[in-house]
Amino acid sequence: MTYVFAFDHAHDRPPREAKDLLGGKGANLAEMTSVLKLPVPPGFTISTEACRAYVRSGWPDGLEDEIAQHVAELEKHRGQTLGDRDDPLLVSVRSGAKFSMPGMMDTVLDLGLNDETVAGLAQRTDPRFAYDSYRRFVMMYSRVVLGVADDFEERFEGAKALAGVRDDASVPPTVLQLVVNTYKDLVLERTGKPFPQDPQEQLRGAVEAVFRSWSNPRAVAYRNREHIAHDLGTAVNVQAMVFGNRDERSGTGVAFTREPATGASGAYGDFLVNAQGEDVVAGIRTTLPISALADVFPTVHAELVGYLDRLEEHYRDMCDVEFTIEQGKLWMLQTRVGKRSGAAALRLAVAMTNDDRIALSRTEALARVRPEHVDQVLHPRFEGAGDPIAKGLAASPGGAVGNAYFTADDALAASERGEDVILVRVETSPDDVRGMQVSKGILTTRGGLVSHAAVVARGWGIPAVVGAESIVIAGKNFSVDGLTVREGQTISIDGTTGTVMLGALELVDASPPAEFDTIMEWADEVRQDRIAIRANADTGPDAARARQWGATGIGLCRTEHMFLGERLPYVQKMILATDPEDEVAALDALAELQRSDFVEILEAMDGLPVTVRLLDPPLHEFLPGIEEIVAAETKGVRGEEAKLVAAARLWQEENPMLGTRGVRLGIVKDGLYRMQARALAEAVVERVIAGGSPTVEIMIPLVVDRAELDLVRRWVSEEVDSVLGAAGVSGEIHIGTMIETPRAALLASEIAKAADFFSFGTNDLTQMTFGFSRDDVEGRMMSTYLEQSLLDRDPFDTIDRRGVGQLVRMGTETGRAANPNLLVGVCGEHGGDPESIALFVELGLDYVSCSPFRVPVARLAAAHALLEADGETDVGA
Ligand code: PEP
Ligand code: MG
Repeated sequence: MTYVFAFDHAHDRPPREAKDLLGGKGANLAEMTSVLKLPVPPGFTISTEACRAYVRSGWPDGLEDEIAQHVAELEKHRGQTLGDRDDPLLVSVRSGAKFSMPGMMDTVLDLGLNDETVAGLAQRTDPRFAYDSYRRFVMMYSRVVLGVADDFEERFEGAKALAGVRDDASVPPTVLQLVVNTYKDLVLERTGKPFPQDPQEQLRGAVEAVFRSWSNPRAVAYRNREHIAHDLGTAVNVQAMVFGNRDERSGTGVAFTREPATGASGAYGDFLVNAQGEDVVAGIRTTLPISALADVFPTVHAELVGYLDRLEEHYRDMCDVEFTIEQGKLWMLQTRVGKRSGAAALRLAVAMTNDDRIALSRTEALARVRPEHVDQVLHPRFEGAGDPIAKGLAASPGGAVGNAYFTADDALAASERGEDVILVRVETSPDDVRGMQVSKGILTTRGGLVSHAAVVARGWGIPAVVGAESIVIAGKNFSVDGLTVREGQTISIDGTTGTVMLGALELVDASPPAEFDTIMEWADEVRQDRIAIRANADTGPDAARARQWGATGIGLCRTEHMFLGERLPYVQKMILATDPEDEVAALDALAELQRSDFVEILEAMDGLPVTVRLLDPPLHEFLPGIEEIVAAETKGVRGEEAKLVAAARLWQEENPMLGTRGVRLGIVKDGLYRMQARALAEAVVERVIAGGSPTVEIMIPLVVDRAELDLVRRWVSEEVDSVLGAAGVSGEIHIGTMIETPRAALLASEIAKAADFFSFGTNDLTQMTFGFSRDDVEGRMMSTYLEQSLLDRDPFDTIDRRGVGQLVRMGTETGRAANPNLLVGVCGEHGGDPESIALFVELGLDYVSCSPFRVPVARLAAAHALLEADGETDVGA
């Protein structure tokens, strides 16, 4: 078994395609070295296979020898030896999994330094530089490999204060040496063993630590969130060190081939003079823009821009790189296809179809735009500019309003209390991600556009402002220009302009870039009429919005929303009615109100199908709740109020989701569905008279048996025929059912004979298939289940292919076999989820229906699924 591959190894497939074996970083290092011949410090990659073997059964046989051989090669290449007292070879050891997991796993730099080699390095270079490198190495190694958790930085800051210096570069070597000694003493005290001096031992320790870091809780949580498989393992890259912190002719930076937030052309990024790689990403100091590199190091700037062009042309996509300048020489340390904001993704995809060097096809361009990109451009923004109290870098677009919290834990707790949160930090680290995830926005006072906060926020579409340096955080408040903002106080941040405002600014809907429409058109070209995208909309304005976003019909109009607010008293009258006359009067009043609602919706969706679902929730949802009942009973109430409380008691159920709801309610309150059918038919008549073309489908919820559907279908048909007949309006109203219970799916072939259409209500179907209460389990056990990999997805979010998906497949197939004209769709929340849409496309459904805001995402996701099904392009990456 070969576990180790040099960056310049002879390959039979392009290294960039070997990410599964070499990890993303290793594959691209090999590509840059052996294909593009860019100046990459030499090194080798220990494969993911070695990590998997390690995770399975410990350090793999033969790995030590292979590493030794590659170290020997590296020594030959560099003319330096690991552990050499005069001119030691130093290496970096970095993780690099197949899918990028920024900051989740461990890195060790300057490995090979010890009490002796540091002296050699000091002699050859500069003592300050050598001892600073040793200090950094001991700190990183102790944390990462030896697990010594202590605030090393604090000790360093203390030493700096004692020495009376402010910036790192001015700390004298003698002080650095002392700092190193305190670090080593700490290691001895904590681990009972001296800090390892043998470079071979150091190397093995670091490689093992990277292997172990694959399974650290941070990495596991990240993979859960990003749905990355846990059995992939990480590769380990061992690379000769080059030093950006060597002197003022050195530096380090991160660059993008185009601007990742907007997609604008031209090299973009940050750099720092006299600094080491992690400084830029960690945001320790404030960086300079790449354009300023032309002033400081003009030759390097020209060279870098040339390499960026080559990379973009080679990868046919926007790339980002990490680079280091060592005494005037440029080294490329890593590259990958760069993460981008949603707006940039749309712009780049379209622009690259017109760029002759790249010449993306339309399908390639479509595949480049991910559903989350589309989601992102649909984010809200602020109405006015507001009055900024501070300004930072515009790191991740969008406006956010929330209460300021200063730790990830406090942010989490506040969000659990239902507050909107803005997480305010000096800078963020992977430990903060859970807090970041629940925040509406992120504000940091340090760091650049590629700092942790910026990269993570951009990836998740969370608005972020970073590097707002005028803000000073002290405990649980921050001050800026004499003004203090305390924990819990509301602020607004604008990730598009980089501004911070006091109080809550008004948010308005997002405006996607012009390329949004182009991408949507291309997506629709692929989709054509193979699967329709409808919307779940209950009001005229919602329907109009859905149509604007491209919905071609309503797949679910939930009529219960027409029973709330000022209409509630009529519903209550209907429930309380003791004689038929009162009930009819109450129903008539409701019918009138519903009719006008239906007219509005039919008008907004004129010419397109509108599926109206008859009342679904249990009646007690329209009556006083349990607390009110108890209070009223304790207090003693009279008259109408007492009747209402009594009715509430009567209709109260132990398990209302499984009680008298859906069609069962329709059958028990037998005037109800007739009234709704009549109101709808009257609305149709009104629309026809107004010159419209209403297309209506009436849907019966929660059916478990054909007999139920037969009965209700007869009522509905009678009402519709009578209203249409009386008005002399011809037209057909389709009548169908939701498939929301496992029994309905199992008996689909029978039920299909009485239905014009099926609409899978995957919310209830998931609830009933799993026996998971849709109102309770997500808050209580879902995160535990996901963390422990008992489920790989929240099934309310993404359809459970193996269980619920199987019922959808079976119901569709047997339903269609029994009734070839059966129209089949989905109207549960899964109708807007890209992964679930892929299944629905695979099953050949006629439509999915989702909330209006998700319609564009659904259009794109359906196109992706169809392209994939046609074998056109790999859009799953
Ligand atoms: C469903 O159950 O999937 C559905 C769409 O209905 P509701 O969410 O209203 O129960
Ligand atoms: Mg339902």
